[in-house]
Amino acid sequence: MKHRYVGTDNWYKGNTHLHTTLSDGGKSPLEVVDLYRSAGYDFIAITDHWHAFHFEQELGKSASVPEDILVLNGIEIDGKDEMGHYYHVVALGDFQQMQLSEDLDSSIARLVGQDAYLILAHPYWSGNRMEDVRRYPFHAVEIYNHVAAWLNGKSLALPYWDDTLRYRDDLFGISADDAHLLPQHPGWKGGWIMVQADGLSTPNILKALRAGTFYATTGPSFHRIQTEGNKITCHTSPIKQAWLVGEGYFGARSVAADGSLFSDFSFTIEAGSQLARSSYVRLEIEDGAGKRAWTNPL
Ligand SMILES: [Zn+2]
Ligand SMILES: [Zn+2]
Repeated sequence: MKHRYVGTDNWYKGNTHLHTTLSDGGKSPLEVVDLYRSAGYDFIAITDHWHAFHFEQELGKSASVPEDILVLNGIEIDGKDEMGHYYHVVALGDFQQMQLSEDLDSSIARLVGQDAYLILAHPYWSGNRMEDVRRYPFHAVEIYNHVAAWLNGKSLALPYWDDTLRYRDDLFGISADDAHLLPQHPGWKGGWIMVQADGLSTPNILKALRAGTFYATTGPSFHRIQTEGNKITCHTSPIKQAWLVGEGYFGARSVAADGSLFSDFSFTIEAGSQLARSSYVRLEIEDGAGKRAWTNPL
């Protein structure tokens, strides 16, 4: 184990993917900032299609921008690789404006050249192949995309993540709204991440995103994740069950004998066991309503 979650106990709630009237969203950037702030979010990223958002240019001069929510700059691009496979990619960072382009390789190269944090968006919704996740230097993949539920029901994309983790254990799982706030798909507050960072600033949040010190959720919370030697101890919001998930069929489950909810559990990875031989282990929890949360590989 890499003992990923041993830093601060400051957790910041954020949504890394949303759209405004700068592309096909239903609300202006300022309305979106107000909405998420009122819902208790600590940060959001504005990631319009082919529009590199710049907070200072677009909202910095507005006196009515709330100060207690951090707004990250970002963009969403899409395009095809040389095999003709179609991708949507969310990038966080400060970018020059980009021209609409079908050529994914050159678009991604431009973003990487500007130090982007690259997220493969909704691969299941897009119809990506498993191997597509390994074709570009993604930092993270959306394992849950809330708005996909309105579009084709393909919100959950966990197999893409687990398949890739067999090859590289530094790909992180993100849960995001991809909110458009339109009458035909109004969904928001459905998927978010909780980031363990030293403070709420763009450098701190991006540093934590690069280090993977965050978890993804559609409801339940990890309050504490402790790893010591081969033992993992967790304190969470009330849950129905927890899994330690490894490669392939490797795993373990924790559940109360009488089916009641609980908030504390631990797993020990015995030397020589399947989980000890697994190329990665991650935690997954489920609450009484069936909502789930996922840590990054520990
Ligand atoms: Zn998209
Ligand atoms: Zn989107």
